[in-house]
Amino acid sequence: MSTVAEVNYLSDRVNAMEQSATLAMAQAARDLAAKGVNVINLSVGEPDFTTPQYIKDAAKKAIDDGYTFYSPVPGYPELRKAIAKKLTTENNIECTADNIVVSTGAKHSIFNVIQALINPGDEVLIFAPYWVSYADIVKYAGGTPVIVGGTIDADFKPSIEDVEAAITDKTKAIMFSSPSNPAGTLFNKSDLEALAAVVEKHDGLFVLADEIYEYINYSPEGHFSVGSIDSIKDRVITINGFSKGFAMTGWRVGYICAPLWLAKATNKLQGQVTSGTNASTQMACVTALEDTDNLKKATGDMQEAYLRRRDLMIDLLKAIPGVKTNVPQGAFYLFPDVSAYFGKTTPEGDKINDASDLSLYLLNVAHVSSVTGDAFGAPECIRLSYAASDENIKEALTRISNALANLS
Ligand code: PMP
Ligand code: GLU
Repeated sequence: MSTVAEVNYLSDRVNAMEQSATLAMAQAARDLAAKGVNVINLSVGEPDFTTPQYIKDAAKKAIDDGYTFYSPVPGYPELRKAIAKKLTTENNIECTADNIVVSTGAKHSIFNVIQALINPGDEVLIFAPYWVSYADIVKYAGGTPVIVGGTIDADFKPSIEDVEAAITDKTKAIMFSSPSNPAGTLFNKSDLEALAAVVEKHDGLFVLADEIYEYINYSPEGHFSVGSIDSIKDRVITINGFSKGFAMTGWRVGYICAPLWLAKATNKLQGQVTSGTNASTQMACVTALEDTDNLKKATGDMQEAYLRRRDLMIDLLKAIPGVKTNVPQGAFYLFPDVSAYFGKTTPEGDKINDASDLSLYLLNVAHVSSVTGDAFGAPECIRLSYAASDENIKEALTRISNALANLS
């Protein structure tokens, strides 16, 4: 009998899937640290703050109050109502609890929506640079990701002409994050109104707006949700979650606000795959949203710290010859163009051909983990997270600067 090692028994779907580059790099950093190496992890996009105390207290209370059973598949009514209220009042998105489906993280929410919406052969336009998982989630549903890129000089925003030109009769959805991962790009009201004017012209074209970094926004303009635009509001799916703004990555709660027919479909899908997400966590999320005084204080404090760290990292990066960066208006990443170093050679005689080689060189030599821009559809860049302490940012950038200076 053949063994699994000789024959690949895996499904074509899974064989075709790339490993998540962000998680792979984070694991590589952990592995190196486990060997005793002092690694500074700037790869995984995760707040370095612990979850605010008022949310932790609410979770403990929920356990004591008996939230230990299966929860309703789309989430507890209390949480869906609290989310609908937040979206109505803060984001001007018309919705009720029926439009909300709570899932095990925003990644799961995105997976559900794409599985429910995309047929084999459908095209999904993705703004590049894009978050690593978008393209693979689309491919897993049999869809074709169509990438529309923006340049660093345009703050990584694709031009509306390029977006329009990429739409075909197979395009089913347009997908982006704002503020974006990995470039921190903020799509403001006028960008999104221009997008809506294009979407309006195409029946059956949907917009997936990933707003998970909503509360990490440095722009005086604030956040604008494309789902509030009247002309296309029935075709926008807003995705959000608690991981980033509330420093709750490990709790795994995300949600969608979708037209009723799509919310029902993702509910059906979720009922066959995961059931409702963690019960006590959901009740903590109700408190996270409803205790508005604590919410403002906690999210405001974190945002202030991120802004200080962004400016610190930008200043240190600017001092490195050949590195170019935009000034992101949100999220907690810098996405510098490092292509000036491609073609150079390490002191050990290895050639740095691309961003993946450079990212590995920085990990192995400078002991700083980053993520290659290839994973985000921008091969001239690397991603550095500044969700790290000021000391770690300073030390990491010193190490990066020295390692780059050693290339010839
Ligand atoms: N969207 C974007 C743009 C992200 O950066 C992340 C972070 N992992 C997610 C979605 C998923 O977040 P989570 O599953 O932790 O809610
Ligand atoms: N969103 C984060 C990142 O981009 C977390 C890792 C992941 O889920 O991919 O690093």
